[in-house]
Amino acid sequence: MVETENITDRKHSEEKVTANGVWAQCLEIIRDNINYQKYTSWFHPIKPVTLEGKTLTIQVPSQFWYEWLEEHYYNIMRSTITKVLGEGARFEYSVVLEKADMDHDDRSVRLPQRSSPPMPADSGQQVYDQNGYHPTYSTENIQNPFVIPGIRKNKIDPNLNENYVFNQFIEGDCNRLARSAAIAISENPGKNSFNPFFIYGGVGLGKTHLVQSIGNKIRQDFGDEYSILYLSSDQFTNEFVHAIRNNRAREFSMFYRNIDVLIVDDIQFFSGKEKTQEEFFHIFNALHQDGKQIIMTSDRAPRDIQDIEERLISRFNWGLSADLQMPDYETRYAILEKKSLENGIDFGPEIFEFIAHNFKSSIRDLQGAIIKLLATASLQKIDNIDLVMAKRILKDLIKETKKHVSIEDIQRLVCDYFGIDPNKVREKTRKQEIVEARQIAMYMSKTMTKSSLKTIGLHFGGRDHSTVIHAINAVEDRQETSPKFLQIVKDIQQRIELASM
Ligand code: ADP
Ligand code: MG
Repeated sequence: MVETENITDRKHSEEKVTANGVWAQCLEIIRDNINYQKYTSWFHPIKPVTLEGKTLTIQVPSQFWYEWLEEHYYNIMRSTITKVLGEGARFEYSVVLEKADMDHDDRSVRLPQRSSPPMPADSGQQVYDQNGYHPTYSTENIQNPFVIPGIRKNKIDPNLNENYVFNQFIEGDCNRLARSAAIAISENPGKNSFNPFFIYGGVGLGKTHLVQSIGNKIRQDFGDEYSILYLSSDQFTNEFVHAIRNNRAREFSMFYRNIDVLIVDDIQFFSGKEKTQEEFFHIFNALHQDGKQIIMTSDRAPRDIQDIEERLISRFNWGLSADLQMPDYETRYAILEKKSLENGIDFGPEIFEFIAHNFKSSIRDLQGAIIKLLATASLQKIDNIDLVMAKRILKDLIKETKKHVSIEDIQRLVCDYFGIDPNKVREKTRKQEIVEARQIAMYMSKTMTKSSLKTIGLHFGGRDHSTVIHAINAVEDRQETSPKFLQIVKDIQQRIELASM
């Protein structure tokens, strides 16, 4: 008996050595590929448990942690483990159960890594996911990654994230129209007046969540009746380039024309890609004519997307476009409360208020704050986080959120918005569009940095302070007379705010 135990112990410890070694190699790769702060928050707390064949089991502090990793770091984790252990390698998660579930005998549950393949990135052009990671896998051998092999021909993988559902989407003034329309569409796809449905708004405001909810709801209510496909505009472009390269453009086109609900996320990335736009235009027409539902998102209103064919923009406006605004205080509070209660911890009103007041610009950031608290509570086994502790834990995140923006950043963002070269605003040119961008950039530099008029002038090709005053006045006057211009200034301001977080 005693002997058996020793053998088991030894076996465990050997496994642990290998598991540790493999995990250490993984960490090195991951560290080089993501932002350092994210790396320490999300990957340091993970413990390697066992290595069985090519499956490395890692222990994560909570169910939430597991979901977050799968949602945000799936690609990098998958390709890293493959790099370290070879083809067929995978992670399995061991999740430490929350206190509420503690009457189980086992203190952890095991969960597999998602098995669907990551999205293709093989177009000869670089594609980064939201973590700034460039996946290294290729789709050379995959004819169409959305077709599930060996199943009925028209059965496709909708590529949806099942966590994005209406139930998890909190309603507020900021999203009421978009949300109601989304629900209406999911009840009657294609046969409603919201076709196409176009949602726009800044980063982290819930566009992806909302459009995926539509897909998930249709799938849940109608099963196989509708073939649904969610993909980002970049994925569409990549697929298209790949299809052309392999002489499969016709097949590509046929494939998309057979879809009943097509969801294309972040369509602003079609900007400047003429061939892709043309292909999408034809697919769009065919689908629309057949009463198929088309859903799109973008970080700005259709008319403000640069370098997109006019005929596409006019079609984007055929149905309904709805915007998502920054969430108001009450909505932020409600989201925080829901997120933390879901995870079995009630931080209480003081802490929710504190976070809701300090994270104002994106729901992603709000979640980041709550996750950091959850993680700290879970790791340090603290039952009660009080306000002082919360402030200390979140200090760095808040500091980051309030990072200063520079005049150069402003010039870059403004020019990016208008699709012009940032050097142009520093040069002498008097072309109308450049003058407009230059004036807005000067105005933003005054309102969003602490720089003096003189400093601002110097940053714009050594112009005089009176030129800067003139620009500021011009922008202020025009905002009063032109609502369209006012909206442009607001959009740009929002981008600068987001970029400086
Ligand atoms: P976007 O696509 O606009 O950049 P996402 O849809 O990715 O934003 O949303 C960012 C995060 O915020 C996601 O985790 C999402 O679930 C969450 N989120 C956004 N809006 C809401 C909401 N109204 N209620 C609850 N969670 C939300
Ligand atoms: Mg998105």
